[in-house]
Amino acid sequence: MTVRITLEDTTTGEQRIYIDTLEDERTYDASYIWSDGNYSCDCNRYNFFYGSEDSVGCGDTRFKVIRWEPE
Ligand SMILES: [Zn+2]
Repeated sequence: MTVRITLEDTTTGEQRIYIDTLEDERTYDASYIWSDGNYSCDCNRYNFFYGSEDSVGCGDTRFKVIRWEPE
């Protein structure tokens, strides 16, 4: 399953699209990891957004999912 996820960095208002293939998530609801799992955390979303190994602390306020579009 491939999903186009529009993320917003709330500190800048910038939006970017991240494509997630969710390859490891076939066996259960693929949206879970983004809503309540590891990918709901700012530290992981920072890596997706900036494609960087640097990161920010854990939290759930900096990056928002603006759109969720399964392909
Ligand atoms: Zn975290």
